[in-house]
Amino acid sequence: MADKFEQLDAVVVGAGFGGMYMLHLLGRMGLSVRGIERGSDVGGTWFWNRYPGCRCDVESMEYSYQFSSELEQEWEWTERYSAQPEILAYANHVADRFGLRDSIRFNTEVTGATWRSEGSAWRVQTSQGDEIEARFLIMATGCLSAANVPDFPGRDQYQGNTYHTGAWPPEGIDFTGQRVAVIGTGSSAIQSIPLIAQQAADLTVFQRTPNYSIPAQNGPLDPQVAARIKQNYADVRARNRAQPAAFGADYPRNTDSALDATPQARKERFEAYWQHGGFMFLAAFGDIAMNMEANALAADFVRGKIREIVKDPDTAELLCPDTVLGCKRLCADTGYFATYNRPNVHLVDVSEHPIERLTKEGLVTNGQEYQFDSIVFATGFDAMTGALLRCNIVGQAGMSLKEKWSAGPRTYLGLMTEGFPNLFMMTGPGSPSVLANMITGVEHHAEFIARLIGWLDEQGLAQVAADRSAEDQWVDVVNLRAGATLYPNCNSWYLGANVPGKPRVFMPYVGFPDYVATLKTVEETGYQGFAFA
Ligand code: NAP
Repeated sequence: MADKFEQLDAVVVGAGFGGMYMLHLLGRMGLSVRGIERGSDVGGTWFWNRYPGCRCDVESMEYSYQFSSELEQEWEWTERYSAQPEILAYANHVADRFGLRDSIRFNTEVTGATWRSEGSAWRVQTSQGDEIEARFLIMATGCLSAANVPDFPGRDQYQGNTYHTGAWPPEGIDFTGQRVAVIGTGSSAIQSIPLIAQQAADLTVFQRTPNYSIPAQNGPLDPQVAARIKQNYADVRARNRAQPAAFGADYPRNTDSALDATPQARKERFEAYWQHGGFMFLAAFGDIAMNMEANALAADFVRGKIREIVKDPDTAELLCPDTVLGCKRLCADTGYFATYNRPNVHLVDVSEHPIERLTKEGLVTNGQEYQFDSIVFATGFDAMTGALLRCNIVGQAGMSLKEKWSAGPRTYLGLMTEGFPNLFMMTGPGSPSVLANMITGVEHHAEFIARLIGWLDEQGLAQVAADRSAEDQWVDVVNLRAGATLYPNCNSWYLGANVPGKPRVFMPYVGFPDYVATLKTVEETGYQGFAFA
């Protein structure tokens, strides 16, 4: 018998924004529910990612819960794009305000979860020796929470400090006087490099693929803008939900083609969107994300900017991506490219000569050893599936989720997978998830799941599962939608291409409003595509 045995209605794994809202909703319905969280506190991605410069690329007034108007009105954001400490403070405020902490078991990992047909329930084991039986298992484990550290030979020989951006020490790190390496040039690297460069004696960035980045144009949040939004928050939220990625309704999203504009008009439009900053650059013209030629024009503009900013022409060329713009997740930065003008910053291209190994004092590429006091792995995540698979979930007939997804994730609506009754995934593969405002996405999922559980109880039903044919059709829909965009044209983590051996499958669903409409229809027509017992 396990040390601690509990019998509950639901277990929610993860106490980030998804898990917290799920706990709140199920608690309000009167269900007995336990949250399990690996970290020592709430916040999920914002608990773990404390690297210097970490901030959200969605604007503060949009990247927040909308389920409580009191919460919306009382919370004050200070910057246009919130930094990690402020978002974490907000998560803590929510946990306190809605009394969520007591239901969460912190410093605890799920080590196994097995479906038991006899009792129609999940048996969940944790690293703290808990054994919990629950009717429903809800995975709010996040899309970017399983760190990917490349398996370089000699990793255990290196005697300096190593850090991953997604597991940053809470006390912070002082790089003053150090020789530092950053491996990777994705969003986390692009945010942290300018600040690490200000502290370190010497910083060397190892770049495999250059990335497009648009200046965030961050700054203090204008209190008048915040007040205006708060006066009409419901309307702002509704207009955002109608946007492809559930944010950005207040800045023009153009529909005209970049190919139809004169070179001068095009340049002016791109410049205006560059000055506005961030993701909205993709909305400068209607076809940047859909048409190769239009995309190439936008990419040329950004490369022109990089060449203007970076003084050394060789470094500038190395920093210029030649991939499809926006195919890998677009980055937003504060002073990233200009950082390469600092005398203490060096760029090493490892595209042709990969990092061969780590040594006692540093790393080797192209036969040359570089020595460092600290190495920062800004090498990303085993995205979307990593955190789910590490929980060792076993469904009907002893089938593990790992086996079921051996050729890539398969879900119905990104919410359930056939053969795993009463197991819900929040922002799972096959849902808009990482291609939309995450807080809006998790709220939508939490509300759908809560209503479905409520409906099951009303009907006296013990089980819900994804139907096999509905799942097959959904997988096709997700692929078709991705195929109509330029997303499949590069080796992105959306496709699992960043993790050696991971099946190449485009995981998120493109288009938040269509997705919401689909779930509404599914619900209104008696939960078609789900099977009940
Ligand atoms: P990432 O985008 O996956 O970037 C990882 C970087 O590490 C890439 O440059 C990759 O190169 C490089 N890399 C991986 N393995 C390598 C190897 N063996 N040798 C050399 N380089 C290697 O990861 P991330 O920057 O942590 O960002 C992940 C996602 O988290 C973002 O796309 C975003 O969705 C989210 N995020 C959001 C924010 C925000 O809202 N502000 C901030 C940070 C992260 P390749 O490109 O060649 O694979």
